[in-house]
Amino acid sequence: WSDLSPLVAPGERDDETSLRPRTLDEFVGQPRVREQLQLVLQGATRRGAPPDHVLLSGPPGLGKTSLAMIIAAELGRPIRITSGPALERAGDLAAMLSNLVEGEVMFIDEIHRIARPAEEMLYLAMEDFRVDVVVGKGPGATSIPLEIAPFTLVGATTRSGSLTGPLRDRFGFTAHMEFYVPEDLEQVLRRSAVILGVDLRPDGAEEIAGRSRGTPRIANRLLRRVRDYAEVRADGAVDRAIARAALKVYDVDELGLDRLDRAVLSALVRSFGGGPVGVATLAVAVGEEQTTVEEVCEPYLVRAGMLARTPRGRVATALAWSHLGLTAPPDAPG
Ligand code: ATP
Repeated sequence: WSDLSPLVAPGERDDETSLRPRTLDEFVGQPRVREQLQLVLQGATRRGAPPDHVLLSGPPGLGKTSLAMIIAAELGRPIRITSGPALERAGDLAAMLSNLVEGEVMFIDEIHRIARPAEEMLYLAMEDFRVDVVVGKGPGATSIPLEIAPFTLVGATTRSGSLTGPLRDRFGFTAHMEFYVPEDLEQVLRRSAVILGVDLRPDGAEEIAGRSRGTPRIANRLLRRVRDYAEVRADGAVDRAIARAALKVYDVDELGLDRLDRAVLSALVRSFGGGPVGVATLAVAVGEEQTTVEEVCEPYLVRAGMLARTPRGRVATALAWSHLGLTAPPDAPG
């Protein structure tokens, strides 16, 4: 998702890697998911078998990729990484699966975007550790069964709703990742500040955490931008005043809404009278891809109580109107 954000500078991918938590203990927040996952991993380790397949579901930037890597690290196994869109041809998936060594972890990001033939191949692989490779075309085509080593599939998705039933059912455990509470984001920021060597003061951490949309990746991103500001325009220390001034430059408001979030709200309120309006229309109005509006902006706007999804379309709440400095009509939802 970094491509969507004007807030990432080249080279910062490396920073992102260094900021990744490496163990479950280092993984901040998500206490339920952590506890559940710990049990899954420890149970499997006791039995000496690969754990059940794991599905990680939640909005972008909440740590799904990090968790997948942690699962492999905790099991002491290598991880193979791919993504749904990369698995267009079932043959590519067959090649990956047949190269797996027993107990390895295979991570498929954006698993909801996997092509149908690859998905069907995955059913058998997940259930029976077997794939059927089709050789040849037309009437002469034959299918050759191929044993694969027992492995653990970790799938990540921003929309578990668009996963087909059969695929979803083959995961033994689904972790639902939630937006982080500000205290957890402060902890993420303190950890990152130590790694990056930033002098982050408690009030600075609080200010950045409050504007990070419940998302660790955004918290880390904002920290880097505030660090630039602190180093260029001040003495390098990040306190509340510096954080506020820096985030003003980057158009991140007190609630953490960025330009695109505000554009969505503004279109909803100003162009469509607060809705209801379909998400496709809304996306056209702000000139963005529908999936970006749906998967990146909306989850947080809903959670912040500014947007409601109704069967007839998206509706702005009274809070959205007041956030834009406007008076809500009497029928706006509270
Ligand atoms: P995507 O869905 O786009 O792949 P993601 O949910 O997989 O996103 P990650 O790439 O795992 O998100 O996390 C983004 C960054 O946020 C990581 O590099 C890490 O620095 C930070 N991060 C995420 N979760 C945590 C956490 N629980 N504790 C500490 N840092 C975290």
